[in-house]
Amino acid sequence: MTDIYSDISLLSGVGAKRKELLAKMGICTIYDLLTFFPRAYEDYSRIYTIKDAPLNTNVCVRAYVGSVAREHYIRKGMTTYKFDVTDGESVMDITFFNNKYAAQSLKLDTEYIFFGKVTVFGRGYRSMTSPRFTPAGEQTERFRPVYPQTAGLNSAAIGKLIKNAFDLCSPVEDCLPRGLREKYCLIGRDEALRNIHFPKSEDLLSEAKRRYAFEELLKLQLGLSRLKIKARQSSPAKIERDFTREFISSLPFKLTGAQLRAINDCKADMASGVTMNRLLQGDVGSGKTAVAAAVIYNCVKNGFQAALMAPTEVLAQQHYTTFRRFFDDFRITTALLTGSTTAKEKQAIKNSLKSGEISLVIGTHALIQKDVEFANLGLAITDEQHRFGVNQRAMLNAKGKSPHVLVMSATPIPRTLSFIIYGELDLSILDEMPSGRQKVDTFLIDDDKRERAYGYVKKHLAQGRQAYIICPLVDNDDDPDADVKASKQLYKELSDGFFKGFKPALLYGKMKPQDKKTVMEDFARGNTDVLISTTVIEVGVDVPNAVIIVVENAEMFGLSQLHQLRGRVGRGQYKSTCILISNKKDAESAERLRILTSTSDGFKIADEDLRLRGPGDIFGSRQHGLPNMKIAGMISDGEIVRETHTAAENLLKENPSLEGEEYDRLKRSVNMLFVGGISLN
Ligand code: ADP
Ligand code: MG
Repeated sequence: MTDIYSDISLLSGVGAKRKELLAKMGICTIYDLLTFFPRAYEDYSRIYTIKDAPLNTNVCVRAYVGSVAREHYIRKGMTTYKFDVTDGESVMDITFFNNKYAAQSLKLDTEYIFFGKVTVFGRGYRSMTSPRFTPAGEQTERFRPVYPQTAGLNSAAIGKLIKNAFDLCSPVEDCLPRGLREKYCLIGRDEALRNIHFPKSEDLLSEAKRRYAFEELLKLQLGLSRLKIKARQSSPAKIERDFTREFISSLPFKLTGAQLRAINDCKADMASGVTMNRLLQGDVGSGKTAVAAAVIYNCVKNGFQAALMAPTEVLAQQHYTTFRRFFDDFRITTALLTGSTTAKEKQAIKNSLKSGEISLVIGTHALIQKDVEFANLGLAITDEQHRFGVNQRAMLNAKGKSPHVLVMSATPIPRTLSFIIYGELDLSILDEMPSGRQKVDTFLIDDDKRERAYGYVKKHLAQGRQAYIICPLVDNDDDPDADVKASKQLYKELSDGFFKGFKPALLYGKMKPQDKKTVMEDFARGNTDVLISTTVIEVGVDVPNAVIIVVENAEMFGLSQLHQLRGRVGRGQYKSTCILISNKKDAESAERLRILTSTSDGFKIADEDLRLRGPGDIFGSRQHGLPNMKIAGMISDGEIVRETHTAAENLLKENPSLEGEEYDRLKRSVNMLFVGGISLN
């Protein structure tokens, strides 16, 4: 029998060209194809008459072709083909554009199932445009999968390849031992995969999804707990003398109890002789940077180097400025290494890192380039860790001889999920805000109050404050009429209009690093007063004089993301405001957004997001740097997370290294998930 991890070209129907197309979609093995899941299904289980068909949503209508095709030449490159179809009671108009093949295939007086959207024209006349169709007798499957497609490979072709794959590898081997399947009432892997692609019924589809999500989550947890064991290595960087007190007393503020506890956790870890592997989790503004600074200070004073990696240039730059200020009196040589550092400077920094002259380096991904070497790296810190993958973190950690590792994150993960996502790490939580912080007032308003909101912004700008305006898109040149705001267009519109006389600035991710830096610096210095941007400012940006953040099309953002954005204001002495603009009237988006107006507790918000949207929001958005969860990202049931957690724990308790033949396939499967990252053997 063919191994499912074999190369995709073994499959009939896959030549050199297709192989390339598939590779572009991330499909290289048969298994990749079998787990390339439909993004939706066409539901053929309800078939409507023309009159009863719901409008403007995909439905099936059964009807006879009542006329021959009427061909209309519209202009060069555009010919339409129109038919009348009827179910004996009403008539519907069907139109195909340029699709001569479809037009020729439909036979007069024959009954078909048409799949598409019914719309109403003029005096109640119904029509369907470019429907899919099958002769009425031949449509036997209840659900048809719809795959994400690329040019050259449409959904039907992908479905066909998947059928071939099942033929070749049938039955697909099961990686879960029978005992486990029975205990948790899981269907087999073969049946699960088949029903995800070609569901026999709705029930079987949800059984199948549950089974596959279970598999994904179980493998993830087995892999992560292995990482945790591997990470516990003895460390040559024993940081025994405690210098933190002198640093802490130099700070312009009093640390919170939570900050002090976190510093103590780190101190204890780093003095223990075993590497620290700690996550510092704290809501935006809880003061993670000061904790990092104390820990870095201690490391450096004990004679070791430290590195701090941030996900964006803006943030790295900002940290550099902050740390220079923190360490002003202490003569700690600090360098900044990012993509925009000049080649000459880079070389000088690399030399000094290698010789040990530089004690602290702050940077972006540039830090994990191959040729960056350290004399004695004792501590590697990653800020906003969810922006990095497990593997990128590992690359930074590999720069030293088992350096201590601290990762910092502001993404509040629901408690039910945190033990999975952070499986490999010990946890310190900053659950206390620095005193004197003001709550940010949050308002949810309709589109038609935008002018008033901007008026409010203007009032505060006139008083010398600053503001952010966030759009979900950078550019909507393609579709300027669309409802979605884009920063570039809004910037233009507002600079010439509403904010004339003020100093708006534009910032987005794709700008040149140097330009981004200039824009950010200008804003931080107050040279500009309203920053129109995208979520690039989501993480870390700290400008205490900014007191209002307006988010356009708020419904398009995740709750946790909005919470992060909101954290950009309320960072100084001034009363701050967050204004969410949304035009979506449906109950679900309104309920979601209302949560933000009622609480500022990031964990509560994350829990609500989990309740409303399921773990998909977290697994699906890849906010965690873990391997891609294909089904776990789609299901809306938090229970399965707990279930798999128990399963993984029990399994490892009974059989820590998964001995025995029945676990071979599971082990292999876990190793495939963390390519290059870990090995269960
Ligand atoms: P985050 O946890 O979101 O990274 P930061 O470390 O950027 O938060 O801290 C937010 C702001 O609060 C910074 O301006 C910082 O100087 C300040 N800050 C940190 N700790 C305290 C404290 N204990 N008291 C007062 N201000 C603090
Ligand atoms: Mg921060």
